[in-house]
Amino acid sequence: MLPTSISSMKSLISPPFSPFSPLSLHFPKTKPFAFFSLPSKTTNVSYPKFLHVNPSMPSPRPPIFSIPIRQSHIETPQSFSPCGEVHVIVGPMFAGKTTTLLHRIQAQSNNGRAVAVIKSNKDTRYGLDSIVTHDGMKLPCWALANLSSFRQKIGPDAYDQLDVIGIDEAQFFEDLYDFCCEAADHGGKTVIVAGLDGDYLRRSFGSVLNIIPLANSVTKLTARCELCGKRAFFTLRKTDETETELIGGAEVYMPVCRQHYVDGQVAIGTARSVLESKKLECGSCT
Ligand SMILES: [Zn+2]
Repeated sequence: MLPTSISSMKSLISPPFSPFSPLSLHFPKTKPFAFFSLPSKTTNVSYPKFLHVNPSMPSPRPPIFSIPIRQSHIETPQSFSPCGEVHVIVGPMFAGKTTTLLHRIQAQSNNGRAVAVIKSNKDTRYGLDSIVTHDGMKLPCWALANLSSFRQKIGPDAYDQLDVIGIDEAQFFEDLYDFCCEAADHGGKTVIVAGLDGDYLRRSFGSVLNIIPLANSVTKLTARCELCGKRAFFTLRKTDETETELIGGAEVYMPVCRQHYVDGQVAIGTARSVLESKKLECGSCT
């Protein structure tokens, strides 16, 4: 990430959230289903009351315009605890992970908390200065190569005043575990993480599963199987590329149920062997 790119990013602390008008929320046909969620012990904290935020700050460096009164997250108000929370949202592609993340970020912002959202700079499909869901919701964000650079990029003072950090496409961040530990355990932040739990071969993807032991809550979302409409738990890659990280949308991936994942893998394997045999035939033709 070049400094000029970073400097052109919009403010992320308590952004305006105009894209979040409830009327503008449209779920895709792959409306997510949360099939398990472990509720946080500390979800009943009372949030600060509220400092209104300035929605339009043109400064390239995020200004500090919301300084919430941080309240203790523990039940004993006599002793201040700096501890925050970690919440994890996983599932296949098209399950609504980013939409869920943005809804939670919006809710936190509506409660007067200072928020910021980070995404990987590997995913450039919708530009680097915003986070966009498959159904068109959009929010300014920091696009970074790693999470450890976030504090320096946003500035230590701005970082200290943040209450909530959202992380999207978390499977691309190798330093996810250390960042969540530091931010929640020592920084007092609420970290909301969204990412793929598995890759197209249903192997653990990046560090997302590593942070489950850190989490206050885990939510696994499902999509709709593109072939039969049942719940989809997996992401099937439709092309024959084999690298783990292949950025793409519906042209490359589709959500599938277990049966169609298995059938799809067989079909793809068959198609690949047919194509390879055709290549051999063509090679011998000339
Ligand atoms: Zn199916």
